[in-house]
Amino acid sequence: MTQFPVPKSRPAPRTGLPPAALAQVVLGVFLAGNLAVVVALFLTSGGGKNGTLTAAKLFGMLAALLMLTQLLLVSRLPWLDRRIGMDRMTAWHRWVGFALLWTILVHAFLVVLGYAVLDGATLARTFLALGSVPASLLGMAAAALVVAAAGFSARRLRRRVTYETWHRVHLLLYGSIGLAFVHQLLEPSAFQSSAPARAYWWLLWILAFGSVVAGRLVVPVRRNLLHRFRVAEVTPESDDVVSVRVTGRHLDRLPARAGQFFVWRFPGHHSWWWANPFSLSVAPGGESLRLSARVVGDATAGLRGLPVGTRAVLEGPYGALTLVHRSRPGVLYIAGGMGVTPIRSLLEEETGDDVTVIYRARSADDAVLLHEIRGLVSARDWRLYVFTGRSQDGVRPFEPTNLAAIVPDVASRDVYVCGPPAMTSGVLAALRALRVPRRQVHAEKFTLG
Ligand SMILES: Cc1cc2nc3c(=O)[nH]c(=O)nc-3n(C[C@H](O)[C@H](O)[C@H](O)COP(=O)(O)OP(=O)(O)OC[C@H]3O[C@@H](n4cnc5c(N)ncnc54)[C@H](O)[C@@H]3O)c2cc1C
Repeated sequence: MTQFPVPKSRPAPRTGLPPAALAQVVLGVFLAGNLAVVVALFLTSGGGKNGTLTAAKLFGMLAALLMLTQLLLVSRLPWLDRRIGMDRMTAWHRWVGFALLWTILVHAFLVVLGYAVLDGATLARTFLALGSVPASLLGMAAAALVVAAAGFSARRLRRRVTYETWHRVHLLLYGSIGLAFVHQLLEPSAFQSSAPARAYWWLLWILAFGSVVAGRLVVPVRRNLLHRFRVAEVTPESDDVVSVRVTGRHLDRLPARAGQFFVWRFPGHHSWWWANPFSLSVAPGGESLRLSARVVGDATAGLRGLPVGTRAVLEGPYGALTLVHRSRPGVLYIAGGMGVTPIRSLLEEETGDDVTVIYRARSADDAVLLHEIRGLVSARDWRLYVFTGRSQDGVRPFEPTNLAAIVPDVASRDVYVCGPPAMTSGVLAALRALRVPRRQVHAEKFTLG
């Protein structure tokens, strides 16, 4: 059995506000502050040509603020991502996206209605007339792109299209934001009503675009130029699971933690557009990084044939499933299926004594990396429960009564959960029923978007 060294250093106990709560407070205060400024600008800049156009103006300004919020949420700024987690930020991004859609639609409708009332014309004629004004036309085009992206994000359609199609349609939103930016520049909105209003508007846009450029471009490019990742080893773990180890220069300077994930590209082997998220399945020790993936489609199938030496381009580290959030002496780790990968790396970084691990897999063959989990658990005298078999046959460790029987003091522990979305949702529901405080629960679902 593999021998695992026991980590010596214990992290200092956390004091003050939990990191996730702190980041949410900072983000909340920032957004509320900006909302207050936008409303103040609206109230002090005078109304439109009639009541309807005044209301349209307010909705236009709110749409601009929501658009800037979207940019912040997808910027993947490390400070926010490490504390809140990309899965949660993506969920918020989805809801802000739908709020943006409705705000834009209401704004557009009120503009057409306002001018129709003003000119005594029909809605259709006013709509066509507005379409011949360049500033309005840009706004209409921006709105059309938002409607298209929202349509593809609606659950019913999202389930039918591939991730790649959905992602490409989503990229159109950058075009929409560009059009909306020029639309706001040309329209006589409250943002252009005075020098301080203009300065504020420019500052907001610079901040939002700057966050995206920094988080999505500058940080990843700098990291890849510094580390120059290469595939060092490809190991089959089972018939359909493969591990890939990547090395690089100065990996001790990479701020990655166990439990986090990267978006991996293997240009030269895969097309540049293939960028897949995989968690670290070994704690990043400064020498190499490892992913372990189940073959489910073309990109994961291609991992098996990766030649050693292939260049790897990594974006990340991302994700908040880290020990930064530990708050209790006892901890329960729950892994389901391939959700074992971040849990495996967290166990390596874990320094506590009171550790329980539950590993749920469909069958013994599906319990990948189990030998490594056993090695980590036995090196430290922790408890491990492995459940295999179908829930239809009565294997239901995550029903509240069963979970309470396995871990009677679960409510006093931190709980880390990673598994397929349905299992993770079931575990979260059980933890709620067992009154485990939310701040002690740390979960990662293998879904983005
Ligand atoms: C944060 C996170 C961590 C993950 N960690 C692991 C891991 O450690 N091990 C593992 O086996 N799997 C992991 N996954 C799932 C893994 O990313 C997908 O199984 C993989 O990308 C599938 O690619 P494919 O081309 O082989 O299959 P496809 O058939 O193309 O994709 C199958 C499904 O995977 C998802 N997917 C595909 N590409 C992406 C993408 N670029 N971004 C987000 N989702 C995508 C989509 O839901 C898609 O429907 C993780 C997913 C996320 C979001």
